[in-house]
Amino acid sequence: MVLKFFRGRQSPEERDEKIHEGLERSRRGLFGQMASLFDREEITDETWEQLEELLIAADVGVETTFALVQGLQERVDSGELRRPSEVREALKQDLVFILEQVPHREPQPDGEGLGVMLVVGVNGVGKTTTIAKIANLMKQNGVNVLVGAADTFRAAAIDQLEVWGQRAGVPVISGAPNSDPAAVVHDALAAGVSRSADLVIVDTAGRLHTKYNLMEELKKIQRVSARTAKRHENLLVLDATTGQNGLAQARKFAEAVPLDGVVLAKMDGTSKGGIAFAVVRELRVPIRYITTGEKITDIADFDPRAFVEALWR
Ligand code: GDP
Repeated sequence: MVLKFFRGRQSPEERDEKIHEGLERSRRGLFGQMASLFDREEITDETWEQLEELLIAADVGVETTFALVQGLQERVDSGELRRPSEVREALKQDLVFILEQVPHREPQPDGEGLGVMLVVGVNGVGKTTTIAKIANLMKQNGVNVLVGAADTFRAAAIDQLEVWGQRAGVPVISGAPNSDPAAVVHDALAAGVSRSADLVIVDTAGRLHTKYNLMEELKKIQRVSARTAKRHENLLVLDATTGQNGLAQARKFAEAVPLDGVVLAKMDGTSKGGIAFAVVRELRVPIRYITTGEKITDIADFDPRAFVEALWR
């Protein structure tokens, strides 16, 4: 039997194609320059300096960059790596290794029963669009999904979700503007149970910097969810174009809810694909999806190897 949760996945071919398309800017930009460093005859001090600069510019993070470059230098000094092309391959392997260190865990137990995916993130990062994309992807792959529009502060977000929901054929459960978000979650879960849904995806408010106590609200929503849901997963959406700033947001959210995964949104809009490595290495949270454009199908399941390949090819 195919476990229900896994049915929400893209085929590896479709996933890899999306990742490849979405990373075009990174491939043409900083990572492309990095790859060409190793087209030369030999590796010099200047090569290492340039590699360091490019990794940092690509948002890989200073600490991770130093660790990577130092490790490679040692392997060249010891004679383990000789040709520049071998160093390039070793760097790719190291990058895959970073991403694989924190694998995505499927919510347990898998299989039957209602799952909840709580989606958090500050306004503007691409949260609403991401929810529509995940819902569509799940539905396309046989998951019975519905969406709870619990960002009741933004009437526009509720409207937007309803429009996306209609397009994707996914029911959207919403409350009146400014109503209690936890009550909307309660209603969405009740609807999920009565419709024998597999998964309820919940949109939440994204006001990190106002007086409104978002963090308390998220905890309340978690408690409501825990009463009904058999599986619960918290996803944080980060705007990949905001780089290191996103890490600070992530730390803030992680104080309120344990994060099970990160969605890197707008990967198509940046050449700084290195943020993925900083997120995994510094936050110890796996990347779950990347989003790659404004269409509802512009989303890819994350895969470390495909991601690193797409940065370099
Ligand atoms: P929210 O405020 O976090 O809910 O963000 P929205 O989902 O409303 O998205 C904000 C803007 O980012 C919109 O103009 C979206 O079309 C755009 N956007 C969202 N995801 C992507 C993406 O993957 N790529 C690009 N290029 N734009 C995106």
